[in-house]
Amino acid sequence: MAIATINPATGETVREFEALTEAQLEEKLQRSWDTFRTYRDTTFSQRADWLRRAADIFDEDNERLAQLATLEMGKTLVAARAEVTKCAYGCRWYADHAAEALADVEWPHPSNAPEHARIITRYQPLGPVLAVMPWNFPYWQVLRFAAPALMTGNTGLLKHASNVPQVAMAIEDVLTRAGFPEGAFQTLLVPSSQIEGIIDDDRVRAVTLTGSEPAGREVGARAGRNVKTSVLELGGSDPFIVMPSADLEATADAAVSSRTLNNGQSCINAKRFIVHEQIADEFQRLLVEKMDALTVGDPSDENTELGPMSGPQGLEELDQQVQDSVAKGATLLTGGKPLGGPGNYYPATVLADIPKNAPAYYEELFGPVALVFRARDIDDAIDIANDSSFGLGGSAWTEDEDEKERFANEVESGMVYINKITESTPEVPFGGAKNSGYGRELASFGPQSFVNAKTIWIQ
Ligand code: NAP
Repeated sequence: MAIATINPATGETVREFEALTEAQLEEKLQRSWDTFRTYRDTTFSQRADWLRRAADIFDEDNERLAQLATLEMGKTLVAARAEVTKCAYGCRWYADHAAEALADVEWPHPSNAPEHARIITRYQPLGPVLAVMPWNFPYWQVLRFAAPALMTGNTGLLKHASNVPQVAMAIEDVLTRAGFPEGAFQTLLVPSSQIEGIIDDDRVRAVTLTGSEPAGREVGARAGRNVKTSVLELGGSDPFIVMPSADLEATADAAVSSRTLNNGQSCINAKRFIVHEQIADEFQRLLVEKMDALTVGDPSDENTELGPMSGPQGLEELDQQVQDSVAKGATLLTGGKPLGGPGNYYPATVLADIPKNAPAYYEELFGPVALVFRARDIDDAIDIANDSSFGLGGSAWTEDEDEKERFANEVESGMVYINKITESTPEVPFGGAKNSGYGRELASFGPQSFVNAKTIWIQ
C-alpha cells in the first residue's frame, strides 16, 4: 500500500510520501536506542512536564490536527476534534497517574529470610518499543500507547497505517515540540513489509499492534520468535444484548450511536444486536428507523452523522460481505449498496435472519452494518454472543440484577459493559480475549505493559 494522503470524501490523492531508505531507518533505530540510554534516567516529574505540555499543544492545535484526520481517513470533523481533545486528556491523565502505577511493590519476605530482608518488584523500562497502529483513531490509538510508554521511560517508534502519514508526522511533531528529547518518539514511514525486520532488530525490545487479526498474527508470531514482549489489540464483533426490561427507545439510540461511531469503523462498535424475541420486532423497527434517519455526507460538514469509509478497499470488502450474506439467506432491512459517486460512501445498513454460514455471522464487518439476531431467552442470548471467534468488548441492556451478573460473568470478552456502550478511556483497562488479542492497555496496565518487572532481594 502506497504511503499517501487520499481524501476518502472525494477519492483525490492529496500527497504521496517516500518510504524511508534503509540508511534513514537505520539512523532512526540507532537514535531510538541512544536516546533510551539517557531517557530512562529522566524523572517521572520531568516526563510528566513534557506530557502536560504535549496536552496543551493538542488543545492549542486541535482544529488543525482534527482537519488532518478528517482529510486522511474521513471521520467527521466533530469526531476528530473530540479525538484530539481525548489525547490531551490522556496525556494529562498519565502525567498524573503513571508514577503510582510504576511504584515499587514490596513483598512479605519468605520465612527463611532474616527480618531485615526487603523484597521488591521494581518496574524498569525495556527500551525502544515498536507501535504498529491503525488509521481508525489515528491520534488516540497512538497516544494510548505512547503516553504511558513514555512515562515508563521507554522510547517509541511508530509505524502508522499507510493512509495517515500526515497524522503520524503530526504526532511526532507535537511530542517533539512538547520537549521530549529528540529520538524519544519517532515516526517511521515504512511499508508493513518492513515490520518483520524491525521486530528482529536487537535494539527494538517490544512491539504493540492495534489492527486486524491477520496483521496481529504476523506480528505476534514474529515477536514470539524473537522472544519479545507483544501486546495485540485486534478486531471485534461485539455483541449488544437487549433484554425485555430495557428501555427500548433509549437502547435503540445507544445501538445506533455505537454501531455508527467513527463511520462504523471502530473495533468496539456494537456489531451484533442480540435481542430477546419478546421485544425483537419493536427493537428492530426502532433500529431501522434510527439508522435511516442518519445524515450521511461530507465529514467536514458539522451536521454529518455518517461520513465516508476510509478507503475503497474497505468499502468493497464490506459490500462483498453484505452481498454474500444476503445470497446465503440474510434479510436486508435497509441500505446494502454503496452510494456511488466520488468518495467511499456506504449507507447505514441493517441485516437480520443471518445464517451461520454467512460472512456476517462469523466475520468482522468494519462499516455501518448492524446485524440483528433473535434470542429465545438469556441462555440463548449468551450462546449467540459467544458463538464468535472474537472477544473484544460487548454490552448488555437490562434492569434485571441477576441478568446483569450473568452477562458480566458469562460473555466471553475482555470487556463487558452493562447499560452502557463500550468505551476506551484512560481510567479503564482496555483489551480483548479470544482472537481479539492479548495484553491490556490503559489504566495501570498501560505503564506496566512494557517493563522489566525486576525482583530485587536485599538482605
Ligand atoms: P490492519 O490492516 O491490520 O492495519 C493495522 C496496521 O498494521 C497498519 O499500520 C498496517 O500497515 C499494519 N499491517 C497490515 N498488515 C500487516 C502485516 N501483515 N504485518 C505487519 N503489519 C501489518 O488494520 P486496519 O485496517 O488499519 O484497522 C482495522 C482493524 O483494526 C479492524 O479489525 C479493527 O477492529 C482493528 N482495531 C482494533 C482495535 C483494538 O483496540 N482492539 C482498535 C482499532 C482497530 P499498512 O497500513 O501499511 O498496511
